[in-house]
Amino acid sequence: MNPLLKKLLEPRQTEYLLVNHNFIIQETSAELHHYADTSGDAIPGADARISFPELIGIENILMSIIMGRLPSFELKGIARFADPNRPLYFDMLAIEHEGEQEDVPSKLLILIEDATEKMVMKQSLIQRANEANLLVSALAASKDYIDKVISSMGDALLVTTTLGTIKTVNQSAESLFGYSEAELIGHPLSIIVVEEKLLYQARHRYILCHQELLRELEVICTTKAGEEIWVEFSCSAIQTELQELYDFIYIGRDITERKQQEIEIRRSLAKEQELRQVKSRFFSMLAHEFGNPLSTVLFATKILEDYDDQFTSAEKQQYLQHVKSASKHMAQLLDDMRLLSSAEAGKLEFNPAPVDLQKFCSELVESIKMSYGKNHRINFICPELVAPAKKKDRESEEKQHWPALDSKLLRHILTNLLSNAVKYSPIDSNIYFELNCDNEEAKFQIKDAGIGIPIEDKEQLFESYYRAQNVGKIPGTGLGLSIVKLCVDLHGGKIDFSSDTGLGTTFVVKIPFYKQR
Ligand code: ADP
Repeated sequence: MNPLLKKLLEPRQTEYLLVNHNFIIQETSAELHHYADTSGDAIPGADARISFPELIGIENILMSIIMGRLPSFELKGIARFADPNRPLYFDMLAIEHEGEQEDVPSKLLILIEDATEKMVMKQSLIQRANEANLLVSALAASKDYIDKVISSMGDALLVTTTLGTIKTVNQSAESLFGYSEAELIGHPLSIIVVEEKLLYQARHRYILCHQELLRELEVICTTKAGEEIWVEFSCSAIQTELQELYDFIYIGRDITERKQQEIEIRRSLAKEQELRQVKSRFFSMLAHEFGNPLSTVLFATKILEDYDDQFTSAEKQQYLQHVKSASKHMAQLLDDMRLLSSAEAGKLEFNPAPVDLQKFCSELVESIKMSYGKNHRINFICPELVAPAKKKDRESEEKQHWPALDSKLLRHILTNLLSNAVKYSPIDSNIYFELNCDNEEAKFQIKDAGIGIPIEDKEQLFESYYRAQNVGKIPGTGLGLSIVKLCVDLHGGKIDFSSDTGLGTTFVVKIPFYKQR
């Protein structure tokens, strides 16, 4: 072979063999036998197809090259497995080798280049690519699986950043809170969790310190429609790619119904307890308030029966008077009880009609003064403004300007408050009853200098049969103020009081004027 070509091939570690048109080896490079299938046959004089069987079947192509009709032919990635642990790969390129003199026919130069490293690398690359593809599809499958689990969960799922910004939500969260995914993602958790601060503190305390799953945290949430619902959350943290930064997963369940049932149960228990208390107060009132007048009646009638002939008619009248007033007292009690029960049954009627308030109040005060107010100084104060129509001459015209109130209910209110002022204050003390009106409402103020009401009794004072702890032996039923409250409520008014024990009490009733629509 051309010595120049030989020199060129050697440093590139390219082996070669030169064959004639019968494929008989004419010349080989020194290390060619490494690539031969049967190494002993890769020698000059032997048929090249024995050591390189890859040439079998392509003789026509090779002949075309020798004859100058085809420039070259290449076979790539030919493998030899003489050592199964270290396979050998090479590429083969066949080109024409022209004779040095014109009458010498051309030959075929087959160049062999080692491709083992290239092939191994290629194979390992292919293998890695396959592995990566497998991993990607495994990841996609597992993501798909997780997505399916999350979206089919009945509980709401929310994932937030450390600072509470929502990153992920599932379908249940969307339907529970009424927001779409787009309306939640990127927003703070506080848009749905009213007490987000509570969650924030809790997750830091429990999760970051103890790395524990936080369970059964009950919080109030607001839906998009503004409805408040109770949600029980469990919360856990997952470490993000950044050290010390966590994402938080919240799994929430709507427990509004359960909470409402709990509240309902608590309410009924309280109601039951209250009913028990009312019942016991009722029986103790019954024992006291009916007991005394009943014994008076029994005693007086027995005396009259047994000693009829020994009494003068004046004495008999006196006993009969006792029976009468005891019976009246019991009748009054029954009346009050009847009134209360019909009010509780919603049967107490509110019938507003024009009332000349000043006249009504001063007449009431006079009648109280004559009956149980004899021993007190009841002062009725009423500024002029109370009767805006006073200047008018005719009563029918005046009447048009009178405020509309239910005088029957108003009588219950004022009689009870004034009689209490009398009952709970010392003989000879002053009682002030003040009436003020503007265009909107009437204000009644009853002030006494009596025993006062202890602060501890304030809450329950308007409950039926309730009596303050400082009443001592002063008789009473605990019905008066509940009747007052009912009548004030029916007017849409308000009642309040201020009191200092031992110094006195002031009740204030405000009643808006009834306006016909
Ligand atoms: P009673 O028949 O016991 O007076 P009420 O319902 O009228 O019932 O009043 C309830 C309780 O409120 C009374 O028992 C008393 O303790 C207290 N109370 C009401 N008015 C006064 C007042 N003017 N001064 C002191 N205590 C009062």
